[in-house]
Amino acid sequence: MNETKTAVVVGAGFGGLALAIRLQASGVQTTLVEKRDKPGGRAYVYEDQGFVFDAGPTVITDPSALEELFACAGRKMADYVEMLPVTPFYRLCWEDGSFFDYANDQEALDRQIHARNPADVEGYRRFLAYSKDVFEEGYLKLGAVPFLSFRSMIQAGPQLARLQAWRSVYNVVSRFIADEHLRQAFSFHSLLVGGNPFATSSIYTLIHALERRWGVWFPRGGTGALVNGLVRLFEDIGGRVLLNAPVARIETQGARASGVRLEDGRFLAADAVASNADVVHTYAALLDQHARGKAQADALRRKRFSNSLFVLYFGLDRHHAQLRHHTVCFGPRYRGLIDDIFGGSTLADDFSLYLHAPCVTDRSLAPPGCGSHYVLAPVPHLGNAPIDWAVEGPRYRDRIFDYLERHYMPGLRSQLVTSRIFTPNDFRDELNAHLGSAFSLEPILTQSAWFRPHNRDAELANLYLVGAGTHPGAGVPGVIGSAKATAGLMLEEVSA
Ligand SMILES: Cc1cc2nc3c(=O)[nH]c(=O)nc-3n(C[C@H](O)[C@H](O)[C@H](O)COP(=O)(O)OP(=O)(O)OC[C@H]3O[C@@H](n4cnc5c(N)ncnc54)[C@H](O)[C@@H]3O)c2cc1C
Repeated sequence: MNETKTAVVVGAGFGGLALAIRLQASGVQTTLVEKRDKPGGRAYVYEDQGFVFDAGPTVITDPSALEELFACAGRKMADYVEMLPVTPFYRLCWEDGSFFDYANDQEALDRQIHARNPADVEGYRRFLAYSKDVFEEGYLKLGAVPFLSFRSMIQAGPQLARLQAWRSVYNVVSRFIADEHLRQAFSFHSLLVGGNPFATSSIYTLIHALERRWGVWFPRGGTGALVNGLVRLFEDIGGRVLLNAPVARIETQGARASGVRLEDGRFLAADAVASNADVVHTYAALLDQHARGKAQADALRRKRFSNSLFVLYFGLDRHHAQLRHHTVCFGPRYRGLIDDIFGGSTLADDFSLYLHAPCVTDRSLAPPGCGSHYVLAPVPHLGNAPIDWAVEGPRYRDRIFDYLERHYMPGLRSQLVTSRIFTPNDFRDELNAHLGSAFSLEPILTQSAWFRPHNRDAELANLYLVGAGTHPGAGVPGVIGSAKATAGLMLEEVSA
């Protein structure tokens, strides 16, 4: 690919954007092609009557990975977007009325842990040390390394064994901490990237150390402002973004991709193609004419996929000052509910929720005196629970509103100005997500690193993947790490 200097990236999620920036910054003329009318993917933005609703990611961690993107293009992040610290990171609440403010303040953490179970103060210190160790190995050393060969997996083996990566997140947390509420507080993190704390590898405890190391941030103007900042950066350095441009097919010539065909018939030739779209969609729909597409799609369909989400966005005519920016509302059951979310065939009667109240940090996201919010409930994906969301969605919305009004936001219904829902059907239809999964392949050990779809396709030499379905996996830091791994491979070819 010596003289090849053009690339097309399919999909403008965080992974696609980060990859496009890295390629463009390295001199590859890059076109980013997005199906929807706005960039961001899961980080889309809805605007309604002066309310701004970030659709997806709201807990922004590892700002250094974002800064690195701007730096590799010779720019400064601060010139594009302002990042505001969020404290506490989260308020974790239980139905008995108790809560835990999880913050980057050791003394405050110790005090709260001591109040629940004095012995857990020491246990937490040991858990934090373990989590930091995993973070060093799993995130800093391997987070942006492409696992193309089984040998690379074997090389990581001794570290995985030392860290007992076969244990689940909850199992490891329980070895250090005895109080059940604290076990929930330090094990729920894997749910943020679609991992079942009772099944996913203890490697995902690294999220705890990552948050303690760099904090939790929120862009002024919302996550959408960060997406817009990345788009502006990409365009400032000469990149091209095409919106409302669904790709119908990745065209091939022999064992190489030759470009992409848009649904409107236009053909964009490229020396290399990378897909940030869902991995099953990429192989099943975009490469359906190629034997590789069919074979890989069949193999992927046999994998386990993460849960879906039901997301409810709502604007109120007042600001609820009693809320924190991020609240996790634990329901009456933990393990039982998680079993239902990851393996159940129906909707459970109870739920655990994440409540987003961004106006706590940035009042500009709603009209004066008002509040923008979203609340999400993890739910089974469509392959496990073929729920008729057209019927169930409005009912589920009402149940969640009742619950929030009862426990967290008195008077909510009478303050309601606007609301909208996003169901597993929307993940499937709007984002082309297989089974409506919110996070792509489930992050279990046997679907991680080398076992995850590779950042470069094994047969089509110039076809690449980026985003949640490839290594290292979902979450904003994950997909930005995947872009670094994929860009490394693509640029190696350019300069070969
Ligand atoms: C509700 C929600 C809350 C979350 N909260 C957090 C959080 O707080 N912190 C965090 O770190 N992570 C969070 N996550 C996870 C995180 O948002 C995702 O893992 C990450 O954003 C996925 O990025 P991606 O690069 O894989 O692409 P995606 O965001 O999945 O984008 C893929 C893009 O490809 C486009 N596309 C698909 N098919 C085609 C086609 N044929 N042609 C053209 N374009 C196509 C799609 O329209 C989409 O724009 C959350 C996820 C959800 C759903």
